Formats: sequence, structure tokens, C-alpha cells
Amino acid sequence: MTFEGIKEQFEKYASEGKKMFTTSSFQSHSIVLLHIISRINKDIQVVFINTGYHFPETVEFKDRVSQEFGLEVIDLRSNTPKFMQRGTDGRLLFTSDPDHCCYLNKTQPVDALLMQNDIWINGVRADQSAVRKAMKMEQPAPHGTIRFHPMLDWNAKMIYQYQKEYNLPKHPLENSGYLSIGCEPCTRKVDPEMMEREARWYGMSKTECGLHTDLVK
Ligand code: SF4
Repeated sequence: MTFEGIKEQFEKYASEGKKMFTTSSFQSHSIVLLHIISRINKDIQVVFINTGYHFPETVEFKDRVSQEFGLEVIDLRSNTPKFMQRGTDGRLLFTSDPDHCCYLNKTQPVDALLMQNDIWINGVRADQSAVRKAMKMEQPAPHGTIRFHPMLDWNAKMIYQYQKEYNLPKHPLENSGYLSIGCEPCTRKVDPEMMEREARWYGMSKTECGLHTDLVK
């Protein structure tokens, strides 16, 4: 969707009295949407799903970007303390049950947030995975909400061109070989022959955290 199209859609939602929020993982490519939002409506709530397992560089980048773009970002955390997030072997859940770890730290907190909102602006792109390719620009989500996917038809080249045009900052780990950056225990560097998102949950059958599979209707 073009900048003008996104602007029109935000204005339509606002005129209908819809409450909007967006989530961001604060990677280089995901801040394109944040920059677009900052050019249109700085009052849209920006949420960082703080699992407690992010690279310190991501948290620093989030603070830098929110200041540069003039956006207020809130941290969304799990209600389940980490001492209750352990498997039967006593180790933290990401080692034995990453699906449940993602559920407690990402899906459940966002599900609760959906109850207080109408529109979830989400930066998924069709070229990122098979799950995302099957998504629609507007899609029903739990609790009567709508997911709005304004970046769905953007590709890596368009993202790169936008980053260049607006001279957007880069996630500090990008120069060290990381491209798709999530929680530290579940992210590795990308090898030349790998697809970008293969760097997440490497060696497991898991490809999505649940936000884009459980919180969709
Ligand atoms: S990405 Fe890994 S550490 Fe982060 S919530 Fe999911 S399983 Fe846990």
C-alpha cells in the first residue's frame, strides 16, 4: 500500500472512532512502518513486546528510534514471572517448549491488548514467509478487532529504497551478520545460503511466534 493509501486508511479508522495501536520488533526493516506512522499520526500507540530476552542492542535501538521519530513507545510484558516459565527440567521454557514461551511472552499479552483496541496495525510482509503470504490487507482478529497490514505488498527492495530515501537508522547488529532479529536465545546470524527468517528458531520446525498464527481469524 502507498503512503497515501495508508494515510487514508488511518483517517478512515479515526473518523469511525476506532482505537489503533501497532506492535514493532524494532529491526531495521520494521522501522519503515514506524517512520510512516510518525509522518501521519504520532498519537498512534506503539507497543514493544518486551519478552525480557531481547538483545541489549535492540532495546537501545528502540529508545533511539522512538526519540528520533517522536513516538511514544510502551513496553508490553508478560504477566507470568520468569520463575514460572520453566520446564520440568528447571530450565527456561525457550530451551524445551518455545511455543509456550512465545505464548506467555508474546501472544497472551497482545491478546489482552486487543481487548482494549479496535485496529492492530501490523507490519507483516507477504515475502517473509508462507504464513504471511496467505494474509490479507485487512483481516479479522480476536475480540472483534481488525488486523491492518499496510506493508503486506512491500518487498525487500522497496524497504531498502525507503530506508535510503529517509536515511533511517540501522539496527546495530545488522553489520555483524544478523538480519532477522528477535529474542537472543532464538536468533542466529544468517549464513550466505540462508533465507532471512531461517535465522529464527534455527534447527526447529517453528517459523512463527504465534502472533501471526494464533491472533488471526
Ligand atoms: S522467541 Fe524464543 S525467547 Fe522469545 S518468546 Fe519465543 S521462545 Fe521465548
